[in-house]
Amino acid sequence: MTGTVRASTALLLTGIGLAACIGAAMAGHHLAAARPQGQQPPIDRRHTISLRPAPAPAGLGQEAFEHARTIVGFGPRNPGTPGWSHQLEYIERQLQGHGLQVQRDTWTDRKELITFANVSAVIPGRRKERIVLACHHDTKCTLGHPDPAHNFHFVGANDGASGTALLLALAPVLLREERDATIELVFFDGEESLDWSWNEGARALFGSKRYVKRHRDALLLGEEPRIVALILLDMVGRTDLHIQEELFSTERLRTIAWSAAVACGHQKHFYQRAEAASDDHKPFLDVGIPAVDLIDLNGNPHWHKPTDTLENLSAQSLQITADVVLTMLPEVERVYVRDGK
Ligand SMILES: [Zn+2]
Repeated sequence: MTGTVRASTALLLTGIGLAACIGAAMAGHHLAAARPQGQQPPIDRRHTISLRPAPAPAGLGQEAFEHARTIVGFGPRNPGTPGWSHQLEYIERQLQGHGLQVQRDTWTDRKELITFANVSAVIPGRRKERIVLACHHDTKCTLGHPDPAHNFHFVGANDGASGTALLLALAPVLLREERDATIELVFFDGEESLDWSWNEGARALFGSKRYVKRHRDALLLGEEPRIVALILLDMVGRTDLHIQEELFSTERLRTIAWSAAVACGHQKHFYQRAEAASDDHKPFLDVGIPAVDLIDLNGNPHWHKPTDTLENLSAQSLQITADVVLTMLPEVERVYVRDGK
């Protein structure tokens, strides 16, 4: 157990409740519980694999920032809001503008009576096995909570917009490159918990749970190729960027992420702290799909706060994350597509 995890436990136990969108992921309520179920120890950062840096084209971070500016301009984007609809149309228009075929999967949750929508697009590779590159597009609902402190105007520049914006900026880059793996870009809805607290994810991760279930059904029927790995981007553009080592993530993918950060010279922004976080990668891990969450939650002062605005987002941070993702991809392909592990 790391210090940061212990700190989160203490907060949960005192009822301050870190949780919410991405619960600080303590499974039990006992300090004695060494770590949440599924959490693994941190990697040994002295051991890296040698990767060739594949930095993003200059200006990609700025492009992503401009997408984020547009998205933030739509206002709050929790399901049912005008901003939610506008953003979905914007994502689709952008992807279609690059010649991609876009799928929108809309459904109404029977228990919550809320309509959600996932958006996805496939960039074909030489092989059918897919690497999913994903984010969530919804923002935390900050209206109607019993505690007045939880009700405020929230635009989620980092928590929501940054991942979405970066996927949109990466799409044309990925389209230009020939590769073995097929890449699927997926924008999940309903990541955020409907309760203010995380509540062990009981009322959260709607989009990723739905996506994984549909994929499993299609796989059984032979209608869809296998997903070999997930790379998830969540809160990847904060000015003072720090992507933690997320400890539910598959160890091999964490090693690849860290090695890519080192190869690009971005190590001070990555894995300096380690903590588990429940996020859209959990439903994938639960069915045995290797997954890594690139997330800047630990110590993030703007998380679910009115200050999660464009002023605290930076094009440079988005560029740094893009560098690492693009440097990771060939190795993820090598390990999970060509070697078939
Ligand atoms: Zn959130």
